[in-house]
Amino acid sequence: MRRFAGARRYVYNQALELQQRRHASSTKNLSYAELCKELTQWRSNPKTLWLADVHSQVLQQALKDLGSAYTAFFEKRADAPDFKKKGRSGEGFRYPQLDQTALDSGNGRIKLPKLGWVRYRKSREVPGVLRSVTVSLRAGRWYVSILTRRDVDVPEHQGGAVGIDMGVKRFATLSDGSHIEPLSSFKRHEKALAKAQRQMSRKEKFSSNWKKAKARVQKIQNRIANVRKDFLHKTTTTLSKNHALAVVEDLQVGNMSKSAAGTADAPGRKVRQKAGLNKAILDQGWFEFRRQLTYKLAWAGGQLVAVPPHNTSRKCPACHHVSADNRMRQAELKCVACGFEANADHVGAINVLSRWLERDEGQDTAGAPARCASTARIACEVSGARGRQQQEPTEETVSE
Ligand SMILES: [Zn+2]
Repeated sequence: MRRFAGARRYVYNQALELQQRRHASSTKNLSYAELCKELTQWRSNPKTLWLADVHSQVLQQALKDLGSAYTAFFEKRADAPDFKKKGRSGEGFRYPQLDQTALDSGNGRIKLPKLGWVRYRKSREVPGVLRSVTVSLRAGRWYVSILTRRDVDVPEHQGGAVGIDMGVKRFATLSDGSHIEPLSSFKRHEKALAKAQRQMSRKEKFSSNWKKAKARVQKIQNRIANVRKDFLHKTTTTLSKNHALAVVEDLQVGNMSKSAAGTADAPGRKVRQKAGLNKAILDQGWFEFRRQLTYKLAWAGGQLVAVPPHNTSRKCPACHHVSADNRMRQAELKCVACGFEANADHVGAINVLSRWLERDEGQDTAGAPARCASTARIACEVSGARGRQQQEPTEETVSE
């Protein structure tokens, strides 16, 4: 599996280098088909003959992943693709299409082409028709994620509409006045992580003690990720059950979390404050929150919609007066026109919801979430590693 992951990384990096060279000489990027031709050559090159031992689709998938990374970059959703470094947590490889016979869930094993039958710890049933399988390494353990497809009946959601305001002090505030406290998982583990990283830096690189220290660092990082995932899953599950329509502000998390440092010629403003906010945003996992809420609402027969974020924090919900003066204090809104007073995040959530409802006025779809497609793509993540005795946290149910 390490060799497969290594080969995938090698192919990804080789292809990236090719594209970067072409970019530097202002030549058009190679297409996926052209990259596949290059791959065929690498697989028959005596210097990189070891690539031939790895399943071809696994390596082709690396080229597809690079293509997606470039697309995201061109569409300004992400930074330019970067070289994959060895030993990063989350390394792995994917079989883009596996036959149903590859899965023997009764015996808790899966047949990975060119690797053979591999046992996994069965954390749940895997309904549906097998699509793709991803094998990944995290903190010294191998995980397998199984993607399947099946038809599900979308229920009629009985809940109403809710506006959600995302924040740093409060993770989320709802238009009904309730709110969800932030988790700040990173803060809670920050000290332990800093200590482990310090210990690692004192060891001689690549020595066995360094490797042990590195494993400790990755273990803490993995725990942080699991705690955060658990928090997000619980939060989004509750929200999707209780509400049929969730309205959020269309904030671009990618932009907000981008470095504010600027360049040498034009240094960014408020760099320190923004760095603090960025860290808080990344720690909260807003993007992941929205992703989960979107698919969970769809499964429950509901819908998530986004509205443009103008003035949602400065508009009085009582008289609709918009003014920066309404926000003399950060945590509160006090309307200078009518004297209305309320928590600023609560006001934000109300305004987000009413922005959607106003937009919908006059249409016969007002207030009613659109029926979602009856075929939903269901991801079943089955985590496990060979020879493991203890119960480990799974993707969705994690206890600290
Ligand atoms: Zn007012």
